[in-house]
Amino acid sequence: MLLINVSKIPPEGLSIDTPLNPGEVHLDGEEGFALEGGTLRCHVERGDDDTVHVRGRLQAQVALSCGRCLEGFTLALDQEVDLFYLPHEAGQEQEEEDEVELSDRDVVVAYYEGDRLDLGDVIREQLYLAVPLSRLCREDCLGLCPHCGVNRNQQACSCPTEEVSLSPFASLRKKLDGSES
Ligand SMILES: [Zn+2]
Ligand SMILES: [Zn+2]
Repeated sequence: MLLINVSKIPPEGLSIDTPLNPGEVHLDGEEGFALEGGTLRCHVERGDDDTVHVRGRLQAQVALSCGRCLEGFTLALDQEVDLFYLPHEAGQEQEEEDEVELSDRDVVVAYYEGDRLDLGDVIREQLYLAVPLSRLCREDCLGLCPHCGVNRNQQACSCPTEEVSLSPFASLRKKLDGSES
């Protein structure tokens, strides 16, 4: 259960150990990646000033497609979570409300609305932060051939590489081949 009523957090805190599903993490309809599974284990504590501290570990398997070869692959995330949530105060600007910032202590501070802290939102934010912008199935992915489209990780093709066709000798070679009209 990822929805927490802040006023019902007991003095000793709340221990959470729950499997993740895309619905609860609000990832239904997300096109950039898909949550295949995972677990959130954390301890949720409420401070005197209604600050909520979420501390623990997030493990998730995220399905992505490679930016170079377009093959699907799974990224395993395993990270510490150490977050402070402040109650949203009336009159606060909308932009401030949505803003997540790093404090001096390197702890992410965000806001919760009313009495409700949704750990699903927390996890979704963490996933967005953790999923790299350049998504490669592997560091040295060879990608697709721009000419014939084969996945060069799986198959070699005989297309000329870009370097050759752009070299000053390419036009000369074409002449020699008699292929230039
Ligand atoms: Zn790839
Ligand atoms: Zn090719």
